[in-house]
Amino acid sequence: MFSLIECVAHQHDYRLVLLAATICALGNITLFVLLKRASECVELRRRHWLAVAAIAEGVGVWATHFVAMLAYRGAMPMRFDAALTILSAALAVAAFWLTFRMLGRKPDAKRAGVAGLIATIGVALMHFTGMASIIAPAAVRYALSPIAISFLLAWGAFAGSFFSFGALRGWRRVFAPAGLTILAVVALHFTAMSATTLVPDPTIAVTAGDGSAAWLIPAIVFATLALIGLVLASSFVERLLTDLRGLTDATLEGLMIVHDNVIVEINQQMSTLVGTSYGALIGSRPEDWLQFSDQSEVTGDRSSTTEAVIRNSSEPEKIVEVAIHEIEYRGRSCQVLAIRDLTQRKEAEREVAYMASHDSLTDLPNRACLNRALAEAARRTRHTDGFALLALDLDRFKAVNDLFGHAAGDDILKRVAAMLKAVVRTDDIVARIGGDEFLILQRHVEDDESVRRLTARILDSFAREMDSALDPTAVGVSIGAAVFPRDGSDPETLRHNADLALYRAKHEGRGTACFFDPGMDQQVRERRAMEHDLRHALQRDEFHLVFQPLVSTAFSATVGFEALLRWTHPERGNVPPDLFIPVAEETGAILPIGEWVLREACRCAAGWSENLSIAVNVSPIQFQVANLAAVVRSAVEDSGLDPRRLELEITESSLLRNRETTLTTLHAIKAMGIRIVMDDFGTGYSSLSNLQSFPFDKIKIDRSFIAALAKDDAARSIIRAIVGLGKSLNLPVVAEGVETDEQRRMVLEEGCPQAQGYLFGQPHRLSDRVEKLEITTRSQA
Ligand code: C2E
Ligand code: CA
Ligand code: CA
Repeated sequence: MFSLIECVAHQHDYRLVLLAATICALGNITLFVLLKRASECVELRRRHWLAVAAIAEGVGVWATHFVAMLAYRGAMPMRFDAALTILSAALAVAAFWLTFRMLGRKPDAKRAGVAGLIATIGVALMHFTGMASIIAPAAVRYALSPIAISFLLAWGAFAGSFFSFGALRGWRRVFAPAGLTILAVVALHFTAMSATTLVPDPTIAVTAGDGSAAWLIPAIVFATLALIGLVLASSFVERLLTDLRGLTDATLEGLMIVHDNVIVEINQQMSTLVGTSYGALIGSRPEDWLQFSDQSEVTGDRSSTTEAVIRNSSEPEKIVEVAIHEIEYRGRSCQVLAIRDLTQRKEAEREVAYMASHDSLTDLPNRACLNRALAEAARRTRHTDGFALLALDLDRFKAVNDLFGHAAGDDILKRVAAMLKAVVRTDDIVARIGGDEFLILQRHVEDDESVRRLTARILDSFAREMDSALDPTAVGVSIGAAVFPRDGSDPETLRHNADLALYRAKHEGRGTACFFDPGMDQQVRERRAMEHDLRHALQRDEFHLVFQPLVSTAFSATVGFEALLRWTHPERGNVPPDLFIPVAEETGAILPIGEWVLREACRCAAGWSENLSIAVNVSPIQFQVANLAAVVRSAVEDSGLDPRRLELEITESSLLRNRETTLTTLHAIKAMGIRIVMDDFGTGYSSLSNLQSFPFDKIKIDRSFIAALAKDDAARSIIRAIVGLGKSLNLPVVAEGVETDEQRRMVLEEGCPQAQGYLFGQPHRLSDRVEKLEITTRSQA
């Protein structure tokens, strides 16, 4: 102990000792500032900082040692071997690097102990290597026991220092361990020095230098302090930069800083966006990754954003939006490219566009989409190959939809869409343009034959997959075709004419295909004319009623009449009701006409014998307006007819729509004492269920069954079944369209109580309305 105090007090230059202490203190404070910083960094950066800390501490300790050694006032001149001196510094640096790697982020006692041991060995190695670098005319002697003590002391101090670094918080984390390491360094150095004796040895020849090596001290001090200062400063600057990086990484955009068309910096998002590493991007050129949609240079200055594509062979292409600004970066003028990923937005836009041009139920293109394709085809095809437009309409679809519900209707539409897509070629377009209407744009049409082949494929497909015998929801299809440019040289005309052809197909018996021909146009014009004339026929007094007798089959007595409408057109003459009634129904003209029939029939019948009934046909359209019951009531009241003599004939199609309202109307009418007759029975859909759920008083078997009676056994059994049904429901059954005695006999045999037909009387005008009608019996003898 004494030798230690003696050594420090008497053998050293105070000023230099003080200087060494200062270096040691600064070095060690710096060390823990860096270690603290490192412990807060991400792993990669932490390792960098550990290396920097090892250099700072190694050099600092070495400088402390070197200056302190120079402070040793030996009696003899000294020089230093350069290689060993440098090696001693390197040993210190290496040892500290190992030490810090050993420490980990949060050293526990064990780690602190091991790290302390490595540090102590390192500093000792440095010390003795440094001593060995001394070139002096003396031999160096060591006393071993103080050295061993100093070693243990230093180990303890280092270990304590590292442990406290792990255990403490805040600035104490810097100063407490720094104090302990200073203690360790000082203990090791001065104890070792005190245990060192230089025994003059004249045999060692030393070339005389000036011996003082005085220039070394300021140089080392300056270099060391500069190093420590730099390291400290850079630790703060780096922190600032890291914060800035953190900030740039926090944006959603990819940022790329370009100088002289070379990428000098990017943020995290940029490397994610491009799908490559930071290292691969830095130093490359922007064009290696970005291609502008306007083919312009990446680095050109621009005021607005530009779209670009990111190219990276291992990634799917991405559409981005690039904004470029001039900035000053690291003291140089650079461009910063802010890049935003548009892929998702583009996808969303595409989705919206798809939805706007497609039908959501069937996923087929919609009307707007087809119109565009049609216009485009008409433009392009003028000189190349032709195309055709097919208009399709499903048969029975409305009934399926009404009877089985919308879910079943939707299923049918989806099935039809799939069937149509399966029969067209890939570049043909199948579109759903609403309800149960479809259009097909058929391309590469050379002649009518190629269109005919497609319509045949469609009809075949329906025949195969829509079997109404097996599936009650099965539908049929009618097709109208128009070929460009023969049947229309512009999209509108073509559409119109395909529709006309479809109209014809539907009327020629559904489930067929028709080609447009110019004659159709004529027919449609005639139809329009009829629509127009019908609207005025009432005012012009062109209607009148005829009456057909209804007889009881057993006695051949007339029990009533059915009122049938006749239209005498000034030019066309007599227009049959089968022709004009559907037109009147489509235009709505049936409403005033139907009301007129009702009033006129009631008025006529009011003048007849009391026991004659009067039957009036009511169109399904009349059931769709809410006031039918009121109209009937007013007709009855105004005419003074006994409502029990009135019968209303309705067809099953009246029952398909709005069953609830129809039922309410029927009950209201029935409540007046009026009877309801089901007309044309056997031709509609679920006849039986209708009979049960609606309040009918009578069934009229459709005249097609009567016409088939003689040659068709099936017709006869149907009639038998219907009569049986009527009996069980207590409903009388009327046979309609009886023309021959044979039919009359058969009808009688099957048990129909009433009949109607040319055999008993043609519909005819009843000459004088006022005259009391007294037809009671008509002999059939
Ligand atoms: P409908 O209600 O089935 O009327 C019976 C039709 O069969 C009448 O044809 C009648 O002339 C015809 N007919 C009667 N006996 C025989 C026969 O023995 N053999 C044959 N082949 N036919 C016979 P019309 O008068 O041409 O009426 C046709 C259809 O027009 C009617 O069928 C009815 O649905 C409709 N209709 C007629 N008048 C009116 C009306 O005032 N209002 C409504 N809504 N529809 C009417
Ligand atoms: Ca009728
Ligand atoms: Ca009928």
